[in-house]
Amino acid sequence: MSKTGGARVIDGTTEFVGVIGDPVAHSMSPRLHNRAYEALGLNLAYGAFRVPVGGVAEALRGARALGFRGLSVTTPHKQEAALLADQRSNDVVLLGAANTVLFQSGVVVAESTDGRGFLDDLARNCDVSPKGMSCGVIGAGGAARAIILDLARAGARELIIVNRTQQRAVEAAALAPEVAHVGMLGELSTCEIVINATSLGLAGATGPEHDGGASLAALLGPHQLAIDLSYRPARSPFLSAAAERGARIRNGLGMLVHQAGWQVRLFTGVEPPLSAMWEVVNDLATS
Ligand code: NAP
Repeated sequence: MSKTGGARVIDGTTEFVGVIGDPVAHSMSPRLHNRAYEALGLNLAYGAFRVPVGGVAEALRGARALGFRGLSVTTPHKQEAALLADQRSNDVVLLGAANTVLFQSGVVVAESTDGRGFLDDLARNCDVSPKGMSCGVIGAGGAARAIILDLARAGARELIIVNRTQQRAVEAAALAPEVAHVGMLGELSTCEIVINATSLGLAGATGPEHDGGASLAALLGPHQLAIDLSYRPARSPFLSAAAERGARIRNGLGMLVHQAGWQVRLFTGVEPPLSAMWEVVNDLATS
């Protein structure tokens, strides 16, 4: 990619990567990845492609035919991408979902970087290792499953899974049978880390479907790190309530940056320029 007056120019030798999802226009991934490739001086461009449900097979065929290096995969395509891939990483097999596909000599390889991104954010930006800790996870969807796997791998002592739909909680806990069990909201008061991995804020985590209406906020305190995997708004109702109770708080922006960092590694084979990627997030947070 050449530069004209400071701007990057896509030319005949540019290679491509991108994200598929629906919706996808709101995605921060194009900005994160393009800033990374610019900082690395790579002639690689990243686009966002809206692919409706049922269109993943065609999208993968098309991207592969056009010589894409790979794709990020977001909602609602993570399961279908995992199913359609020719090869799956161990994590993708366990999770049944992929957030990344690579085109390697015509072979579609599925990977998952969410769990690693979550742990990187904990280690690098919160100075926290889950080793020996008791962690509560509210939610049992794709994001919750990814972090359950990696928290267990990182040596968490106990994982308490609380979810609206019990069966999904049981399936998520089965990913880490040594340390994970299905629990009730009230059990989270003793956890050192409490993670909201639902697609809702506090309201969703305190509904009667969880614990007879017990208030999650009342369970949190200064001894805890409260994490919400969402980042819009930057301070969710869950995080606001946690902060009011004196807990340390963290939103999902760090996980977003670091899971993208792992995708940069997979697409390029080089270390991601994380400080440049953080600038994107910080610019958006203040704009
Ligand atoms: P998902 O697979 O659709 O799972 C959604 C979860 O939220 C399920 O546990 C679901 O419970 C629960 N939920 C939804 N509506 C609910 C309600 N009305 N009451 C109680 N629980 C409810 O979504 P996901 O992909 O795991 O994403 C979850 C969150 O993580 C989202 O906010 C997403 O933006 C965020 N995320 C962040 C990153 C990052 O990089 N920071 C990456 C991935 C995801 P049921 O099982 O009962 O339906």
